[in-house]
Amino acid sequence: MAYERILITGGAGFIGSHLCLRLFDEGHHVLCLDNLFTGRLTHFGDRYRELLLSGRFEFLRRDVTESILLEVDRIYHLACPASPVHYRHNAVKTIKTNVLGTYHMLGLAKRVDARILLASTSEVYGDPEVHPQPESYFGHVNPIGPRSCYDEGKRVAETLMMDYHRQHRLDIRIARIFNTYGPHMTIDDGRVVSNFVCQALRDEPITLYGDGTQTRSFCYVSDLIEGLVQLMNSDCTEPVNLGNDSEITMAALVALIQKTTGKELTIVHAPLPEDDPVRRRPDLTRARQVLGYKPSVSLEEGLRATIAYFRRELGVA
Ligand code: NAD
Ligand code: UDP
Repeated sequence: MAYERILITGGAGFIGSHLCLRLFDEGHHVLCLDNLFTGRLTHFGDRYRELLLSGRFEFLRRDVTESILLEVDRIYHLACPASPVHYRHNAVKTIKTNVLGTYHMLGLAKRVDARILLASTSEVYGDPEVHPQPESYFGHVNPIGPRSCYDEGKRVAETLMMDYHRQHRLDIRIARIFNTYGPHMTIDDGRVVSNFVCQALRDEPITLYGDGTQTRSFCYVSDLIEGLVQLMNSDCTEPVNLGNDSEITMAALVALIQKTTGKELTIVHAPLPEDDPVRRRPDLTRARQVLGYKPSVSLEEGLRATIAYFRRELGVA
């Protein structure tokens, strides 16, 4: 394998930190760019010193809403807060991150002739009327709601990617990532797996929004990382869904967390947030055909590893 200089924007985040370590361990030179809004260098733990001393890892505290000049072969563009709590905290900044950030990364890719992969999202399908969601589905998205800064921001980011591809022959990849979970998620980031697991471990009531019949399909982070690397190494310039296609209701997720933590859980119901999608499951046909992608970690197995991580983070037995 040829070793490359690889830029990972959002590299100190949940998914980005796993990707940095994976590509570093393959022998590449990794440039981790992050403004540390939701990312933490502590995700690298004991390995941070090793990374820095290796001479093959650089951390750049930068913001993708500003342009940057670097020499790189590949770009994984992940920078953007992903939890609804975080991306709604400063909605205008979220749009700027998605639109200006992607524009700047495309400009960089064009200048240095780098291949660029965008971390897009299942949110481009909005509250879907087609189930499961194939890449050909154009989506059902509210352009003016509280989730729009993220959903529409990512849709414009995809448009920019395709236009640079058509107009400037840029070598692009688009990953539509479905709900992913695992170690390095932030405590209290508002996402359902981190919320439920932390609440369970702290013996707090579980905050179930709505009646709990809404569904998601959860992918363990190692399966997602495999998919991202496979996609980057493929020749597919069309969007590709990445995730796990086993679907579960939020009420069933509570029951599974109860079983896995061994805790007796109580539930407090709260209203369903505006525009909360009712059902979500990826159609993984393209990922299977083009990449040979197949997630292998079951939800129960992934939850066990995630619970062990949060036990350490929270310092609870
Ligand atoms: P995260 O919030 O943990 O990571 C995002 C990282 O981007 C953080 O380190 C943050 O500090 C950084 N960042 C945010 N704005 C920035 C800016 N303007 N300039 C530089 N850095 C900035 O989220 P994550 O779950 O790791 O998500 C990573 C990517 O994957 C995001 O683009 C997200 O939209 C996408 N995605 C994630 C999921 C999921 O379930 N985790 C699902 C769909 C898509
Ligand atoms: N959710 C919940 N309780 C929480 C956090 C989230 O019931 O404490 C629900 C939320 O309403 C949604 C699902 O869990 O239906 C997934 O939410 P998350 O924010 O993790 O992801 P997204 O909605 O972006 O898929």
